[in-house]
Amino acid sequence: MIEDILKRYTEPTVTTVCSHSSLQIFDGARKEGFKTLGIALKKPPKFYDAFPRAKPDEFMILDDYLEIEAQKDELLRQDAIVIPHGSFVEYMGADRFRELQVPTFGNRRVLEWESDRNKERTWLEGAGLVLPAELDLDEVDRAVIVKYHGAKGGASFFIARNREEIEARVDKTQEFTIQEFVLGTRYYIHYFYSPIKEDGYALSKGTLEVLGIDRRVESNIDEIYRLGSINELARVGIDPSFVVTGNLPLVLRESLLPKVFEMGEQVVEESLRLFGGVIGPFCLETICTPDLEFVVFEISARIVAGTNLFISGSPYADFIEPGLSTGRRIAKEIRAASELGRLAEVIT
Ligand code: ATP
Repeated sequence: MIEDILKRYTEPTVTTVCSHSSLQIFDGARKEGFKTLGIALKKPPKFYDAFPRAKPDEFMILDDYLEIEAQKDELLRQDAIVIPHGSFVEYMGADRFRELQVPTFGNRRVLEWESDRNKERTWLEGAGLVLPAELDLDEVDRAVIVKYHGAKGGASFFIARNREEIEARVDKTQEFTIQEFVLGTRYYIHYFYSPIKEDGYALSKGTLEVLGIDRRVESNIDEIYRLGSINELARVGIDPSFVVTGNLPLVLRESLLPKVFEMGEQVVEESLRLFGGVIGPFCLETICTPDLEFVVFEISARIVAGTNLFISGSPYADFIEPGLSTGRRIAKEIRAASELGRLAEVIT
């Protein structure tokens, strides 16, 4: 079905929701010669006027993101290729997004593997990655982080040290997971998997790139030490929280890069076996322990906001091509696939 639609396309319009990483998606698309379309609510967001190079050529103005489905024919008329990002999928809802009959960059089957915590674990463990231990309530014998399913940005997560603390705090009306709290340094690694590019870090099919690394800045956990120890603060009713407020750029010790590529490679190979591959950008959210082991606590299977740091390249992307943002890399992939007549391999 999507394949048939793609056959009718003549000049794709790179389309996304005006939020999250849209500036670099539009900027990158324009640099690769694509028309761009931004979906926004009520009226065109004024802040785009401040960033002319990242402003989409046209806006599609809606009252509600749920109207995107109803705009399908208009999107197809404009040869739209939708670039999903975290806010796009969240605003539309994963189920609706999966059903949207408009060509979408990446493999939408990844959603079912990513949004279900059990399937995500099957995928990542199958890839041989180390994940934080998951504990039942009566097994809690160390510091843990309690995570609600479907919570966004860790807003309501909390740290606990024993069963009593969890029982006193947890909202039992929601589904939750108790995970070992891993102490170490966090690295959010931005990968890009291309099934069609042949020169580079080769996998069984296509190639893998690392375009950048960031660390999320989270309030208040990142600054809580300024006021005292977590235990002291808990006694006066101040608890750590994990609300993402920004991102910092990072590089890794160079000697860890082989491990980083190995992890990405295994994740892609397992995804090819399970559901046809995680196509395009994805991010492994990791904690590097003092014995230099990476524990992976999450995968985001699309462009992540941490890539916004690297609009004009990164200490890794610069070795591939100067000025390569993840947004631009996506546009390049669409261009290359289109020229090779292989759009259906990167768009579903
Ligand atoms: P998103 O969907 O935006 O990635 P989320 O709600 O799924 O977020 P996580 O990314 O799983 O939440 O976790 C939020 C934050 O909690 C992380 O960025 C990290 O700082 C911290 N965190 C998560 N899991 C662990 C863990 N096992 N040990 C230590 N810290 C953790």
